[in-house]
Amino acid sequence: MIKLNHLDYYRLPWNFTDNSISWLEPTAKCNLACDGCYRKNENSHKSLQAIKSDLDVFTSLRKCDGVSIAGGDPLTHPNVVDIVADVKSRGLKPILNTNGLALTKELLAELKKAGVYGFTFHIDSKQGRPGWKDKNEVELNELRYHYARMLADAKNISCSFNSTVYEDTMQYIPEMAKWAADHIDIVQVMVFILYRAVNNSTVDFYLGPQKIDMGDLVYNEEFTERTDIKAEEIVEILRGQDPDFDPCAYLNGSEKPDSFKWLLTGRLGTKGKIYGYMGPKSMEIIQAGHHMLFDRYLAYSEPNMTRKGKSMLFLSGFDKKLRKTFKKFFSNPVNLFKRLHYQSVMIIQPVDFLEDGRQNMCDGCPDITVWNGKLVWSCRMEEQLKYGYNIKSYPKGFNGN
Ligand code: SF4
Repeated sequence: MIKLNHLDYYRLPWNFTDNSISWLEPTAKCNLACDGCYRKNENSHKSLQAIKSDLDVFTSLRKCDGVSIAGGDPLTHPNVVDIVADVKSRGLKPILNTNGLALTKELLAELKKAGVYGFTFHIDSKQGRPGWKDKNEVELNELRYHYARMLADAKNISCSFNSTVYEDTMQYIPEMAKWAADHIDIVQVMVFILYRAVNNSTVDFYLGPQKIDMGDLVYNEEFTERTDIKAEEIVEILRGQDPDFDPCAYLNGSEKPDSFKWLLTGRLGTKGKIYGYMGPKSMEIIQAGHHMLFDRYLAYSEPNMTRKGKSMLFLSGFDKKLRKTFKKFFSNPVNLFKRLHYQSVMIIQPVDFLEDGRQNMCDGCPDITVWNGKLVWSCRMEEQLKYGYNIKSYPKGFNGN
């Protein structure tokens, strides 16, 4: 496996109180049952008042640019349009994280009117999706296209795709990344989330002095898949397709500074052709500049912005990688008249268990949510619900005495 040096990349400045995103959970109910889901599928819609209170907690404790309205599936909530309107009225970008199943053209029109900024569609082959059950990740590109087209037709709504990556689906990553490049005009973000589950084989779990059986937590699956796929392995796979593929920015692990938890690549291209990549300096200018102008770090950009890739090339003076992109793009004079699009490829490596038992979280977690008025990790919400705390882990057989 290749080894990337985190010091070569820009550390995204996102932190606990000043971040790009926050994570709102209006419901735990979902109309699918994906493998690898971190939430128990329950019929538990929050009231509008409770959702307002969660948003009040965010706005009083944390700056952010966008709010991921997640769950569960937020489209199952009967008041999803009001929730979007509430987020928008607070000057934040409402992003719906959904499997898309309940999205109709009519609902999309209502959500747009309420101010929806973007969608992140979670689509992968382990969702048991009606009509798509035996399809692989590449065959699912047809469904991805359906949603991307729907948003493009509704005009200027950001379109992202999430896909959980398992040992047996890693092989499809190059084709998925190529599909995203082929549709760079209507797909703004492609996210690969590496599958994780509770590790009972090397660690024991404790709440204070009490040993905890994690057996009934939803993410305590009997897994047969690898749960240790690293972000660098995905970069290596993507370099097999394009040797120039290179990230520009990252979030490190809370316990292991040289681990990549969010690894961001910015690429520029026309439909079907990638001309090059952003370097750390241009991402730094964008994040710092956005914060200076708008007092928050940038999360999502609307399609009207991402199609202005040519103007991003002005940052070439500060950025070696972007200079290379500039030269390649303008080496063909016909390109002067073409649109250059920006697209993000994000690799997310959730909780890892280290050899000494510590859980390596995303330092500067963007997916922080609210529970009982407190800010907590959304990926470990089930621990809060069952025990009221996050559970600590130690190497198996650890004796504190
Ligand atoms: S710490 Fe958990 S909730 Fe936060 S970004 Fe990482 S995986 Fe997501």
